[in-house]
Amino acid sequence: MPLRLCRILLLLCCVASLHAQKLDVLIRNGSVLDGSGRPARRMDVGIRGDRIVVLARHVRQPAVRVIDARGLVVAPGFIDPHTHTFEDLSNPATSRNDAYLMQGVTTVVTGNDGSSPLEIGAALQRWRQQGIGTNAALFIGQGTVREKVMGMSDAIPTAAQMDAMKAFVDRGMKEGAIGMSTGLYYAPGSYSSTEEVISLARVASADGGIYDTHMRDESSYTIGLLGSVRETIRIGEEAHIPVMISHIKALGKDVWGQSTQVIDLINAARGRGVNVTASQYPYNASGTSVEAALVPRWAEVGGSAALLERIDDPAVQPRLTAEMQKNLDRRGGPASLLMTSAPDKEFIGKTLEQIAVQNHLSPIQAALMILRRGGSDVASFNMTESDIRNFMRQDWVMTCSDGSPGHPRKYGTFPMKLRKYVFQEKVISLPFAIRSSTSLPAQTLRLEDRGLLKDGYFADIVVFDPRTIAPQSTYAQPKLLATGVSYLLVNGKLAIDKGRLTDLRAGQPLPHGRPFTD
Ligand SMILES: [Zn+2]
Repeated sequence: MPLRLCRILLLLCCVASLHAQKLDVLIRNGSVLDGSGRPARRMDVGIRGDRIVVLARHVRQPAVRVIDARGLVVAPGFIDPHTHTFEDLSNPATSRNDAYLMQGVTTVVTGNDGSSPLEIGAALQRWRQQGIGTNAALFIGQGTVREKVMGMSDAIPTAAQMDAMKAFVDRGMKEGAIGMSTGLYYAPGSYSSTEEVISLARVASADGGIYDTHMRDESSYTIGLLGSVRETIRIGEEAHIPVMISHIKALGKDVWGQSTQVIDLINAARGRGVNVTASQYPYNASGTSVEAALVPRWAEVGGSAALLERIDDPAVQPRLTAEMQKNLDRRGGPASLLMTSAPDKEFIGKTLEQIAVQNHLSPIQAALMILRRGGSDVASFNMTESDIRNFMRQDWVMTCSDGSPGHPRKYGTFPMKLRKYVFQEKVISLPFAIRSSTSLPAQTLRLEDRGLLKDGYFADIVVFDPRTIAPQSTYAQPKLLATGVSYLLVNGKLAIDKGRLTDLRAGQPLPHGRPFTD
């Protein structure tokens, strides 16, 4: 009997000491938005290790670090489903991912637009060994796979080539990709038929992945915006795979106003059980290149050397320039293209119109000159506010940056959505905006235990000041860090403390489907 009593007492002691065990971090008195879309509640959040362990009105447990969040918003760290951060994350000098941490982002996805590393496992491994500032996940890119198997050819794949592409997608998925991305607007993705894409998407689906797409046409180039949305829905239906439309938009005057029809198509598909979602950035300019915006895809067959030859081929030039002129018109003319990043620095900060005037050239001749000198990234002003707002109000639209060199969205997307569309213009509510940047992408991307403030979930948490959160980046100065994030926890570690970046790289690669093993 005394022995049994002893054991009971010992057990009680253990339980008591576990309860008294100190929290690592306690965030007190904040206005908590848990990411589900529910209104804010005054709550305390307790963290031990990399997890949220208590969420209550008053937490009385002691903590190593207590953060007073009075007057501040406490929310799940933001999740960006479409970035171009692969190089940044893979380079130890930039792997802290400052541009994203300062926006309150704790997880980024990359490998979008059909373009990714081929070796998914090796990339995730390198991130883990070198350390990364945010969590990060990867898509396997269909364009990358096609180029590996078929080069920049526009041919229909043979059965053997099809099998080789399927094997690459399957391997990428098994190594931890969260799905397959396509860039059907870009070469070589644009050379793929819908059926070819469906066959590959079926492989990603069998491995539990999702399908993310920069659609074939967001404008009136080929099959049109609505045709592209229909194609995407068909891929989702026939491959039995959730589909995410990247950076949804109505690009150019020919399709302005079509957001309403796009939304109708998507809602109808969702109504019959197709899992369709979209991401969106809160800017009216897209980010692309002179080549991708203006050059027709037939002129890119064979790659850049072949394009440069065609540019100077008198037999080809008339057709090429005529089509480039049409593409320029559909995008809004030469004043709507702003050079943001180029090997030839002389172009940066100027519109195509300015470059044409300065060089006494027509806009298309100026574009050809830019291409001969290594090309340029552009901000392409081609969207209307009403389409942007229309898409943003849908409960299946999440926030993405699509951050690229020279466009302010890489440094400003999440604060921009809050400052402009929530606080200033009241297009959407704060809980709705937070959900679109947290639990909605986490569910869509199937990221386990992230995207909500909830007991047992990973402690990816942003604490921001609603009065000061704002982007600072502009088209003239695209690399200014955002302001207003007071604290940021990544896997329970403080990546931002009192508004300043710490030196921790607490992010983890997030492979699909299973815990990471070496
Ligand atoms: Zn894209």
